[in-house]
Amino acid sequence: MKLALTFDDGPSQWTPAVLDLLREHDARATFFLIGARVQERPDAVRQIAAEGHEVGSHTMTHPRLTEIGDEDVRREILDGAHAVAEVLGERPSLFRAPGFHADDRVLAIVAELELDPVFADVDPQDWRPGMDSHRIFGHSFVGCRHGAIIDLHDGYPPPPTRSREDCTPTVEALNHLLPVLVAEGYELVTVSELRAG
Ligand SMILES: [Zn+2]
Repeated sequence: MKLALTFDDGPSQWTPAVLDLLREHDARATFFLIGARVQERPDAVRQIAAEGHEVGSHTMTHPRLTEIGDEDVRREILDGAHAVAEVLGERPSLFRAPGFHADDRVLAIVAELELDPVFADVDPQDWRPGMDSHRIFGHSFVGCRHGAIIDLHDGYPPPPTRSREDCTPTVEALNHLLPVLVAEGYELVTVSELRAG
């Protein structure tokens, strides 16, 4: 049984704690990074890649892509991917739209830019203000099944998204979740590994 944990909106001050837990449980994950944050914390990006995790792009500044024009969509996606390429020397192949806001128009641009869109099967909404680690654990675990992609957050987006500003509950939830998933027999892999079968 395989499962892909994904983390959005980093890198951030919580990313090292997430990496520590993943390493402790021999788990691989995929990080969808905001380009502006990549420029602030290039060392964290290098560490993510060096520890065997996959890096995907999550735009440059995290806008709602369905509400901006084609050229702005293109620039957001290209700049975000370019920020990752500047640090890792390689453009990511995976892309996740902020808030999963991607209609046919946005998806056509993603395809034109030769990126592979990634959504999620399990959406625990850990980014919401007031979510505690128990609820994040519960919402994550209840959806787990072979082949599922789970969406968690190791960072929080810039405004206007009304997000929490402390990702500690996700780190705490992960601390409980990882040993349980391993005990259940799940192999925690990257999105590309999951899609390769
Ligand atoms: Zn996001």
